[in-house]
Amino acid sequence: MNEPAYAELVKQFGRARVVEALRDQVAVERAGAEVDESERVERVGATLQAALAPRLRRVINASGVILHTNLGRAPLSRAAVDALAVAAGYSNLELDLDSGRRGERAALLSGLLSRLFGCEAAFVVNNNAAAILLALTALCKGKEVIVSRGQQVEIGGSFRMPDVMRLSGARMVEVGTTNRTRQDDYEQAITSRSAALLRVHTSNFRVAGFTETASLAQMAEIARAHDLLLIDDLGSGATEPIADEPTVAESMQHSDVVTFSGDKLFGGPQAGIVLGRGEAGAAAVKKMARHPLARAVRIDKLTLAALEATLRQRLTGRLDEIPVERMVRATVEDVRRRAAMWSVKLAERGVRVTLVAGESAVGGGSVPGHGLPTVLLSLSGPASRLAAALRHGEPPVIARIEKDACCLDPRTVLKGEDETLLDAVEVAYKAVAR
Ligand SMILES: *Cc1c(COP(=O)(O)O)cnc(C)c1O
Repeated sequence: MNEPAYAELVKQFGRARVVEALRDQVAVERAGAEVDESERVERVGATLQAALAPRLRRVINASGVILHTNLGRAPLSRAAVDALAVAAGYSNLELDLDSGRRGERAALLSGLLSRLFGCEAAFVVNNNAAAILLALTALCKGKEVIVSRGQQVEIGGSFRMPDVMRLSGARMVEVGTTNRTRQDDYEQAITSRSAALLRVHTSNFRVAGFTETASLAQMAEIARAHDLLLIDDLGSGATEPIADEPTVAESMQHSDVVTFSGDKLFGGPQAGIVLGRGEAGAAAVKKMARHPLARAVRIDKLTLAALEATLRQRLTGRLDEIPVERMVRATVEDVRRRAAMWSVKLAERGVRVTLVAGESAVGGGSVPGHGLPTVLLSLSGPASRLAAALRHGEPPVIARIEKDACCLDPRTVLKGEDETLLDAVEVAYKAVAR
């Protein structure tokens, strides 16, 4: 520590942290990796610098999984990113510029959502888990909610329907069996304490074989007859049909309250979108918005801005500007063209690749088992070493290993990232080949 070289580090990081880093370095040296004094100073400096570097980095997603949970689900559109910058400073978030009086931050989004989906009321919270918790708490606390045993889902490790139900203070009444739940099952479970029927989309698994599920229309019929709410946790919020994923429009035909995530197939920022249809739905959404829990799960201004931008793109039919939409809609020919271009350019740089047919995945707990036909660029060489080299690149590239080959799927690589990706691939390939 008394070496003059450490004085600069002490000024920058404080004595305690330099001592700690130096102790760690000395321990490494005692274990057999001895270095000279100047190398030691350098390593201690590097350790301290590394701790300051931001952990969050841009990566290129060449995995072919569109909504990759580990990579932050939906990438935002250009317009949504620009909106983030506006909201980051001072903005008229809660100021009506015409009257100069206080405005309502949620009103704008509610209006746009109502117009987009043709519903009576809408409300946005932090995420879909919060939307369901708020719906159950505000609308069903102390009462019974009827759910099929086939829909007791767990999403991403910590969101389990029975746990959320318990937390809300609503009592869950399970009906049917794992594989079969009929209209009658719901009907027979209704008591004077019932508040709602809840459908939970089984978004990340499928039950195959001897199965039966009451349709949303059948559930709606029962709910109407007994003056109960029908709440639909839709999960993904698909606006266009994709495989057998239920769309928002389909759900809105029957449900009073629909909830879904903003950052799955909807292609926006993390958010929980709540729609209310008809008189009952509108009253329910209003009740949710007024509940004290709503404040605790409200969306922040950055999310609000990005979601507004995404909604405007959807309202004006500019779906191709939303990355998730573009990726889902890209045809296998679109992907093949891009893959072919990459393979020519990589060959020119001495990188050996072959094009192989494969499948992209929607991911993010949507449409399980449904692959989108794609064309993969398969790199020749040791798969896991190539994938690791790509991951350690600048920027890191996330590939996928398929049939013992390191593969890149153009479908999930954003517009404008091609050249950066090719550079990173060349570097990683040559590092491994060496
Ligand atoms: C994804 C999902 C959720 C959780 O949504 P978050 O926005 O991640 O909180 C809840 N229910 C279903 C059916 C889902 O698919």
